[in-house]
Amino acid sequence: MRNLKLASREMEQRTVINVSDVEFGQDFVVIAGPCSVESEAQTIETAHAVKAAGANMLRGGAFKPRTSPYAFQGLGLSGLKILAKARKETGLPIVSEVIDPRDVSWVAEFADVLQIGTRNMQNFSLLKEVGKADRPVLLKRGMYSTLEEWLNCAEYILSEGNPNVILCERGIRTFEKYTRNTLDLSAVPAIKELTHLPIIIDPTHSTGRLSLIAPMSLAAVAAGADGLIIEVHHKPKKALCDADQALTPKMFAGLMDRLGPLRSFMNQLEPGGNGDR
Ligand code: PEP
Ligand code: MN
Repeated sequence: MRNLKLASREMEQRTVINVSDVEFGQDFVVIAGPCSVESEAQTIETAHAVKAAGANMLRGGAFKPRTSPYAFQGLGLSGLKILAKARKETGLPIVSEVIDPRDVSWVAEFADVLQIGTRNMQNFSLLKEVGKADRPVLLKRGMYSTLEEWLNCAEYILSEGNPNVILCERGIRTFEKYTRNTLDLSAVPAIKELTHLPIIIDPTHSTGRLSLIAPMSLAAVAAGADGLIIEVHHKPKKALCDADQALTPKMFAGLMDRLGPLRSFMNQLEPGGNGDR
């Protein structure tokens, strides 16, 4: 692929990114938690539930890039403090989104991984700033972006000196309306051909439908993804953001039980390939 220097597949061995005791690109990593941090009780209860079900990391937005300026925008600093408390209680490292270059340095004091959302994938000043941060970056694919554009955005981060970029396919806009977006699962093997960086799948925002999250999660394992990021809420009907697509803790636990055997089977097919899969 033209223009890629550091992200290109030829450059290096596959990148393994260490976050606490989790290794992206080596282990199959499951990140779970609410769309947004709404309260301490909601976040901590959900964190305990996803940990009990086997999640490796906790997600939760303190800054929410919403389509409407009147929608809940997140709790900001107090949300990050709640996430830090949830990490202390559960031991789960935190993934949280940053939407403004001016916030990167202090958000990095709370989050173990900085998320760049789909709407900011090509926010180049934000990419340059997270490229200078001492934290891995979860770079979501822009909903209108090609693989080449996406990888060039990863290149922005790498070229600023941060080698730890995790790609996340979260669905792209197509003419289909039944699903919120269209999950491009072919991005997984394609990205593996093009780059050494790990790639995870977001079955929540890509489908927007509860009934499709489990099948697409299983399909992501079969496609060779390095992990999943899934929205879970202790009371989905009361969620302030993305209420229709959040799994209950029970549904999430059921999904984790189904993922286990498939991961073992994949591991038998690819011994030594990508760790515990
Ligand atoms: C999110 O993961 O919280 C989110 C807003 O996702 P996306 O950027 O993929 O829409
Ligand atoms: Mn969401």
